[in-house]
Amino acid sequence: MNFGADVSRLLEIVAHALYSNRDVFLRELVSNASDACDRLRYEAIDKPDLTKDDPDFRVRILKDPKPRTLTVLDNGIGMNRAELVEHLGTIAKSGTKAIMEQLKVSGDKEKLSLIGQFGVGFYASFMVAHKVEVVSRKAGESETWHWESDGRTGFTVREASKDEHALLSSSRGTAVILHLNEDAGDYLIEQKLTTVIQTWSDHISIPVFIGAAKNGEEPVNKGGALWTKPKASVTKEQYTEFYRHIGHGMDEPLLTSHWRAEGTIEYTALLFLPTMRPWDLYDPTRKHAVRLYVKRVFITDDCQGLMYPWLRFVRGVIDSEDLPLNISREMLQHNPVIDKIRNGVAKHILTDLDKLSRDDAIGFTTFWEQFGAVVKEGLYDAFSLREELLKIVRFHTTSGENLTSLADYVGRMKDKQDAIYYISGENLGNLRNSPQLEGFKARGLEVLLFTDTIDDFWLQAVLDYQGKPFQSVTKGNIDLSRFDAGSAKPEADKKSEENAPALDSLLTAIRETLQDEVSEVRLSARLTDSPVCLVAAENEVDLRMERVLRVHQQYKPIVKRVLEINPKHPLIERMSALPNGADLNDAAHLLLDQARIIQGEPVPDPARFAKSMSRFMEHALSI
Ligand code: ADP
Ligand code: MG
Repeated sequence: MNFGADVSRLLEIVAHALYSNRDVFLRELVSNASDACDRLRYEAIDKPDLTKDDPDFRVRILKDPKPRTLTVLDNGIGMNRAELVEHLGTIAKSGTKAIMEQLKVSGDKEKLSLIGQFGVGFYASFMVAHKVEVVSRKAGESETWHWESDGRTGFTVREASKDEHALLSSSRGTAVILHLNEDAGDYLIEQKLTTVIQTWSDHISIPVFIGAAKNGEEPVNKGGALWTKPKASVTKEQYTEFYRHIGHGMDEPLLTSHWRAEGTIEYTALLFLPTMRPWDLYDPTRKHAVRLYVKRVFITDDCQGLMYPWLRFVRGVIDSEDLPLNISREMLQHNPVIDKIRNGVAKHILTDLDKLSRDDAIGFTTFWEQFGAVVKEGLYDAFSLREELLKIVRFHTTSGENLTSLADYVGRMKDKQDAIYYISGENLGNLRNSPQLEGFKARGLEVLLFTDTIDDFWLQAVLDYQGKPFQSVTKGNIDLSRFDAGSAKPEADKKSEENAPALDSLLTAIRETLQDEVSEVRLSARLTDSPVCLVAAENEVDLRMERVLRVHQQYKPIVKRVLEINPKHPLIERMSALPNGADLNDAAHLLLDQARIIQGEPVPDPARFAKSMSRFMEHALSI
């Protein structure tokens, strides 16, 4: 059979690129073997016959220098024919798939080397082997199967011979036989294998043995379930190694949270925050990387509702004392114990993040840049945790380059300032130059810059922070006159006062010209340097939200905006001296189109825009 297209490409990369550390293949195989044992142990809770004849789970690594083979053997759940084809012939794992998608699009070298930082699972075998055989019998079935591939185009599957079946040395399980490459001879040395296992797989709860079975032999891994140990007895290295096993990563965890919850519900949690954002963070089908155990027995790594979706980047283990061991997957859904764990865990992580922000500002910022947009989903998702969330959210701001917390913003608020001002848009650079900010800047009023799409959504649910409402500077008529403008141009102020009657008639004329396109035209306190800007009326959807809704096609009608004009701008002064007529009409349309362009919105009639623009330019240049 041929490999799926994704597998072929992955294998090519595995073979030709880059693993900084080839030892990873053994970690992946031992991890699969231990998963297979965990899964059978769970199945056997309901069907004890499955393990009756051979109740002790184990992983064994056998080396044979003569045919240069290395075999990883387990007495776990095994695979039947269909499963061999499915699991070893296609990429089912969503993480690997997502990386492959990325590579297909960009194909660039740097991304290529990144793949080495993630586990590629079973296929990592082909880093060290030119041929891989798998002999497997599924627990409870009576046929043994043989899978084989050279890791290039495809694989074969057939029933296993008697001799091949004998390799299993159990009524069930899997043997993965690697025919090692010339340059992979070091994996035939016992000491090398011991070191690799102890570095990568020490905490695995299934015993791992090297060599043939002997009486009284000791497993190479001594760790056992790491999360059951007291925190003080676990080293940083052990935590990191465990994190890498769970997350298939090569990075260091940014934050390690290990605690035991006691009281109405009891559980142990060992959770990690990664430093690197996974490729599939926004993939809705992404599985949660937190494994659920019940009293040390692995239950599932796909427990719906165990973690909030906005903490989907957290990895690790949760071990419950309250759930029954024979809990079925159906019973896990909407289970009150799971609900309580979810809340308790989220609260704990948020508290730890708050602490991190005080102890390690750089680390926290790194985290926030990677995952902040996801965490903010919690603001509308988890009402009960809103306070904790509002403590850790960070935003860009007009005062400086650093991110700020809401508490710090409120601490810097001006006298008489009763709202938290913000502006929202896609691009930080454009936002900083928004005309709507000019009046705020001139008065020293700080404005938060919201650049994540999610911001517009949580703002619908969170109306204030410590009693201070969030107020968009592109919406409504904000009275800035109560703040000292410290105007740099007092003569301009005076001039526009004298000019009041002419401005009035200008407003009337523009209103008439643009009546089909804007809901209102008014003088602005927001502007100091630009002649015009668009804002949303008090009870309308804010500018950016409208655009987001339009993209998601949930929103059809286009709301009419308010056009604000700057009475002190020379252009507006000039216009107020113009008689009504074609020139004034054209100028009014040009102003509106200009405001739209600054806003990043399309000009509805580009031909007319270009024509009037040319006419004005021609005029200006001929003088
Ligand atoms: P992952 O372990 O992340 O799912 P792998 O590439 O390591 O990805 O393995 C693919 C699948 O092959 C596993 O999910 C499992 O279903 C199956 N598999 C691999 N090794 C074994 C094994 N030793 N016993 C039983 N099933 C296995
Ligand atoms: Mg695996």
